[in-house]
Amino acid sequence: MVRNIIIIGANAAGVEAASAARKKDRTAEITLFTSEKNAGYSRCGLPFVVGGQIPSFRDLIVYPPAYFQMLKLNLRTETKVTAVNTKDKTVTVAGLSGITETLKYDSLVIATGADAFMPPIKGREKQGILSLRGLEDGERIDAAVKAGAKSAVIMGAGLIGLETAVALIERGLKVTVVEMLPQILPQMLDTDMAKTVQEHLEAKGMRILTGKAVEEFLGDDKVAAIMAGGERIDADLFISAFGVRANTKLAVDAGIPLGETRAIKTNSRMETDVRDVYAVGDCAESANIITHKAACAQLGTIAVRQGKVAGTNAAGDYALFSGVLASAVTRLFEVEAGVTGLTEASATRNRIEVVTGAISSKTKADYYPTAKPIKVKLVVEKESQRLVGAQIIGGEEVTQRINALSFAIQKQMTVRELAKADTAYAPPLCETWEPMVMAAEMVLMKLR
Ligand SMILES: Cc1cc2nc3c(=O)[nH]c(=O)nc-3n(C[C@H](O)[C@H](O)[C@H](O)COP(=O)(O)OP(=O)(O)OC[C@H]3O[C@@H](n4cnc5c(N)ncnc54)[C@H](O)[C@@H]3O)c2cc1C
Repeated sequence: MVRNIIIIGANAAGVEAASAARKKDRTAEITLFTSEKNAGYSRCGLPFVVGGQIPSFRDLIVYPPAYFQMLKLNLRTETKVTAVNTKDKTVTVAGLSGITETLKYDSLVIATGADAFMPPIKGREKQGILSLRGLEDGERIDAAVKAGAKSAVIMGAGLIGLETAVALIERGLKVTVVEMLPQILPQMLDTDMAKTVQEHLEAKGMRILTGKAVEEFLGDDKVAAIMAGGERIDADLFISAFGVRANTKLAVDAGIPLGETRAIKTNSRMETDVRDVYAVGDCAESANIITHKAACAQLGTIAVRQGKVAGTNAAGDYALFSGVLASAVTRLFEVEAGVTGLTEASATRNRIEVVTGAISSKTKADYYPTAKPIKVKLVVEKESQRLVGAQIIGGEEVTQRINALSFAIQKQMTVRELAKADTAYAPPLCETWEPMVMAAEMVLMKLR
């Protein structure tokens, strides 16, 4: 009998699940639904179209319709799944015409992602507050810049907020970033590391107000200014980057349990508490590799890996997701910043006693003309001496070092082993003493 696999959401996690399912089952009927006009595009690329590095929003469509045709995947765009019935194993869908249909599934993958979050701030119903989540959002911001916006306020100094702020400065706008917490990139970096990035951004002309909450949106029908920390800030463009919230309504209505993070609870096969129903990507939670606690990191890298696992299982095969380290990188003007595993602050929150070591070095031999600064901070569990986290800020070559340290954490490497790593060297490529190794030496000194 032909297996019916239905996937709700056709972006990073959903498309990966469909592709994996097709690899395992060549005859299955696989149908993806998305309420958006476009499927399979990169949200991560949006700030770089706004910034002008990528010519068009169309360039972000990674999986064009031809891809779905080639794999014989039924893609239904602008079609919303309105209900899931896990008893009858059906979903109800509604297209643009409003006509509803009920379809049967053998396996269901929920990949409904996340939506931009707006806190209950006075005046939030006013027009003119944009966010950057989808292609149309990007087009709206681009249109506002083309229409002559000269200044912008970005609310939230996380990865998306800062990448958008950089993009708008590159387009010539005067940008103020308002962050409620005392530091920028609070999920990604410790305060000491974030300070270095903040100094770089301020030197590039970004005004950053930390420790200031947005209190009110001012203006008649349309927002003209915000109040933040008692200060009125006027601007032409207002972008909310307060974070995202897992899109779980369908699951909740269907009685599929959420977990501690309020995202959909899953096991290591990405299966929910309801049999044959999987959840992946920004709407799902998985265990953190170090703490084993539920985590919902809402990153594209995690979405595709979870999607692959769920798709394989939905097609009747067996695959396991190894968990979340939440490795992430970003580039802000000439500075790259990356994290893997726990920050010192998150280790403390998880009651893990740690020792840290940070060093500043160069990305090439010190005498090499284009050598750039690099700072590596390691977070090591005191008792086991295992590496549990790393942060790097540098002018280049951050990503592959973060990846190397992510492997080290996954392989439970101790700081002593890392200090003995056999690394490579050539003057135009790296220092004799690899910065990661020097940071490990620093931790060892503290441990002694
Ligand atoms: C500006 C920006 C920059 C980013 N940069 C990075 C980065 O550099 N690195 C990184 O790892 N991650 C990054 N991310 C995060 C990454 O984009 C997300 O983690 C990823 O898109 C999650 O994929 P997903 O498939 O789970 O969800 P989504 O991409 O949100 O897709 C879910 C889809 O489901 C659809 N849907 C929801 N409900 C229904 C329904 N009832 N019926 C039909 N369809 C429905 C939605 O319309 C949507 O199309 C960035 C995100 C943004 C916004």
